[in-house]
Formats: sequence, C-alpha cells, structure tokens
Amino acid sequence: MNENILIAIAWPYANADIHVGNITGSHLPGDIVARYHRLKGDKVLMVSGSDSHGTAITIKADQTGQSPHDIYAHYHPRFIELFQKLGISYDLFTSTHTENHFQVAQKVFLTLLENGYLHKQVSKQWYSPATNRFLPDRYVEGTCYICGNENARSDQCEKCGNELEAEKLINPRSKVDGSTPELKETEHFFLDLSTLEPKIQEFLKDREDYWRPTVLNQSLGNIQSVGLKPTSVTRDLEWGIPVPLEGWEGKSLYVWFEAVMGYLSSTVEWGKLHESPEIWRDWWTNQAAKSFYFIGKDNITFHAVTWPAELIGMGDGFDKRMGNPEAKALVLPYDVPANAFMNLEGKKISGSNNWAVWGLDALERYDSDALRYYLTVAMPENRDSDWDWEDFFQRNNNELVATWGNLVNRVLSFTWKNFEGKIPNPGKLRDADIELLDTIKAGFEGVGGRIAKVELKAALAEAMRLASEVNKYLDVHAPWFEIKTDRDEAAKSLYTAIQAIDWLKIMFAPFLPQTSEALHRILANEIAFFGSPYTQVVEDSLGSHEVLGLDASLSMARVGLDLWQPVELEAGKEFLQPQPLFKKLDHSIVDDERSRLGKPSV
Ligand SMILES: [Zn+2]
Repeated sequence: MNENILIAIAWPYANADIHVGNITGSHLPGDIVARYHRLKGDKVLMVSGSDSHGTAITIKADQTGQSPHDIYAHYHPRFIELFQKLGISYDLFTSTHTENHFQVAQKVFLTLLENGYLHKQVSKQWYSPATNRFLPDRYVEGTCYICGNENARSDQCEKCGNELEAEKLINPRSKVDGSTPELKETEHFFLDLSTLEPKIQEFLKDREDYWRPTVLNQSLGNIQSVGLKPTSVTRDLEWGIPVPLEGWEGKSLYVWFEAVMGYLSSTVEWGKLHESPEIWRDWWTNQAAKSFYFIGKDNITFHAVTWPAELIGMGDGFDKRMGNPEAKALVLPYDVPANAFMNLEGKKISGSNNWAVWGLDALERYDSDALRYYLTVAMPENRDSDWDWEDFFQRNNNELVATWGNLVNRVLSFTWKNFEGKIPNPGKLRDADIELLDTIKAGFEGVGGRIAKVELKAALAEAMRLASEVNKYLDVHAPWFEIKTDRDEAAKSLYTAIQAIDWLKIMFAPFLPQTSEALHRILANEIAFFGSPYTQVVEDSLGSHEVLGLDASLSMARVGLDLWQPVELEAGKEFLQPQPLFKKLDHSIVDDERSRLGKPSV
C-alpha cells in the first residue's frame, strides 16, 4: 500500500548561510526519509522555503544598511545552490515572500478569526523612546525570567528553550542601540491557545507512543505543567504579511505564526506550478496522509503546539475558503522528529564568529556523499552531537571508503577484468551464498523499518553492518584465490557479492544518493532512481522569486512502484567499467580544517 507522505522541513531564515548544524538538524534527515518513501512508491512531497520575514531579517538589514528584501535576495539563491550540490531533493523550495504565501497566510488568519480563535487585546510592547518606534521581540534582549540566561531574546530563550512573555524580561535592552526600552500599549490579535488546549492535548496524547521524548517533554509536558495561554500573532512591523483588515495598516502577521503556514502554502504553490491546483488536498485533507516535520529542538513549540493549534482552529474553514463546498479539516502532524544541536569541535556553532562549517564551503573540498555520510552518523537525533574533523577523517576512510567503497570497487573491478565485464553465471548457489543473500535481503526491512521510524543513525549503521557481512563472506570465499583453482567457485562468490552490492545500493540510496546513482549506472541501469533538480523563476504581484524543484519525469522512483525490495540480478548481463565511489582523505585535512575555524572567512 503506498501512502501520501508530506516531508515538511523547517524554513531557514534568509539572513545567513546554512552550516552543517542546520543541514543535519533538518534538511538532511528530511531528504533521507523523502528518498526512502519515493523508493517505496509512496506519493511524496518535500517542501520548504526561505523564511524571508520577521526581525531576523530586518536586524541584519539594519546592521548592513540594506533593505530586508536585499538580505533575503542574497541568501535565498545560495540556499538553492547548496541543496542542488548536496542532493537535498526538494519538490519545492520557495519563499515566504510570495503572493501565494501571502494569500494562504491571510486565509488562515481570516479562518481563525471567523472561527472565534483570534481576539483583540491591548498589550504592552517594548517601545524605544530614542527612535520613536515599537521594538519587535528580537530587538530586545535581557535576562530570562525562567532560567536566568542573561542573553535571552524577549520572545524566546535559547538556553532553556521556553517561549517568553516579552514584558516579563528582566533588565531589557535594545539590540539596535543598547538603550533601555519602555513598555507602551498597543493592540494585537491573540490566538486563543487556552480554548484550544484540550484538543491540542488530545492530539499530542495520540502520538505519545512514538514521538521522541524531547519533543513530548517540550509540548505535552509543558502543557500539563503550566498550561497554554493566548499568544499574540501580530506585530508592529512593516516588513511582513499585512494583517488583512482595515485599520490595521503598519502591522503584520508575526513571523512564527505565518512561517509555519509555509508547509501548507508551498504545497498549494507546487500544485499551481504543476497545473494541479487541487492536488494539495492529497496531503492536507486526506486523513490517511502522513506529514513529518523536520526541525531543530528550538522550534518544537511552534511545530508541536502552535501549528497544530492553527490547524485545529481552522477546522474545515480553510478548505472552504479554497473553494471546496464539501470542505474537510486539515491533516495534523504525524511526527515532529526534532533533532538536538550539532556542536563543532566541542563548542557551540556560531556563525557570527565563523565557528562553523558552512555547507557551500565544505562542498568545495569534499564530495556531497562524504559530507552526508558524516552528517548522518553524527546526527544529533536524541542529544547534542559534535562535528569533529578527526572523526570525520576516520569515518570517511575507515567506514565509507574501507567498508563500502572498497567492497564495491574490488568486487566489480575483479569481475570486470576476469569475466569480460559481465555478471558471472553462478550455476547452483552454495549454502554460504544463500545464507549471505538472506542476511542482506533482511536489510530491506531492517534498514527501511528504521528509516520509517526516523531512526536514521541506526538505519545507516545497519546498512553498514550488512556491507561488513559481505566483506566477511569474501574473507572466506575469496574469488581472487578461488579463480586460480576453480573458475566456477569464483563465479559463485562474485555473483553473490554483486547481488548483495546491488541490494545494498538501494538501502544506501536515501543516505548516499550521488554514489548510489553512480553505482546504479555502473550496473548498467540507464534510468536513475531519483529525479533531477531544476530552478525556475516565478513572477507574481510581489515581483519574482526563484524556486528549486525536482523533475521526476525521468526517474525510476514512481508512485505505486516499489523499488525497495530485492530483485534478482541477471547473470550474463554486461556492466560498465567501475570507478571508485569515494575518495580516501589525507590526514593533513584535520589540521587544515581546524586552523580555519574561528577566523574571518575569505
Ligand atoms: Zn531561559
């Protein structure tokens, strides 16, 4: 049975380049799960885009003397370039600064208003007497009233992960000029989370069995201990999506309130771009569809509480506004497998201090699959992890190259030379051959089952363990010795090893797509597993924006076709001359890379 799978990946703020922590936190795990489901024949849509609004962008604009649009326009194409090079296979990577997203976000707002979950409230907001304007939350820093962190943002504390009530911040200061702001009254809309609380609890309890404990603690745990309060969803800020009501000029939708709607709006945009304007419902109103949200631990509340609250609050009203007379409710998140953080050489990654490994920069020196391999084995699935250059070097050479790359290379090269570039005919297989093949075959369940549960480190470790099993088999049934005395025995060993490699290639494909495709070609398959990325410029009333898409028209992975299964290798079939899949690294890279850290980038 194929399923409808939405892979929703956190929208990166378009105010800085993407580093390895961002990649392993959300983009890569989402890509691995998406590719697995595509191979299974599921109907997959993987979406995200640049978060181009909010004060993360306007602060950077203020600092550099540019417009917020300039900031977004600088980083957005760099994200697209990185994803293409790293094989992050978005069906659509777009932006929040599009007419489509504005329309969807305003519809969500109006639906929640109509359903009675938004109410107006006068609140106090930090105001700068020095510059005569309201200061958005991110412009104000101070001491967290929950954990005492002295550098908390007024809306959220990065140290304890809690959302903060801005006016409770201790010792506030303006990030713009360091001056002390004062509280002043302003009117805003609030989302009534307290009324929605019972339904949010029910939603979370339904998922208690399989969600990560860290995610449950920060959502269900928080609700059970402190409960939910109404949260403001508009801001005194020009840059953003206007509140679609008269008399609210100069105020916009809060960036966190609208950015999460991007998962919905990008699905709608993908349909429009593919001349299927109704198809978004396959993932959003079909209750059997599964949606996975790949995010970092700092975003848990917005994805496990606020966004579900928006979805529950809309009921069938959004679908109705989209023109469906038999409107349905929207699909709630199936899983929110939030990752913890990746540090770098034992210290927290800091972009501003250049204590970071930047994605595009690393791709100048390393192949994408070498980076993807390490970013998966060191993925911060349940606790913070560390990017360590010595570990990167060791794992590349001792695991990726030694266990998997060399296995493929020596088996195929030896066969190429001794069996005229054809898969040898094994005749009747021996018990040991059948035993190995049964072991590898079980990997479709062993590796696939773990990917389906988003246990990606364990899934990759299992695929690597199976590759070691083939190496162990070859230690006993060494065709390079057998061929000297008995060519038929060597043919059996080589056929068995190539069959195992052909299946492992599929299991490695979600993790290592580039080299798995290369191996797939070497084994004389003309059609690639996955589609190819493309970019397109979309014009709308806000100007134009570039999107990244995936052309799957010439790929093997198709809806309804299950490629995630053992298919018997054809004896006698010709294959292409093998090339090494991976590069062994020189140990000097460890010192070279460490010496770059923390220095201004060139
Ligand atoms: Zn705190």
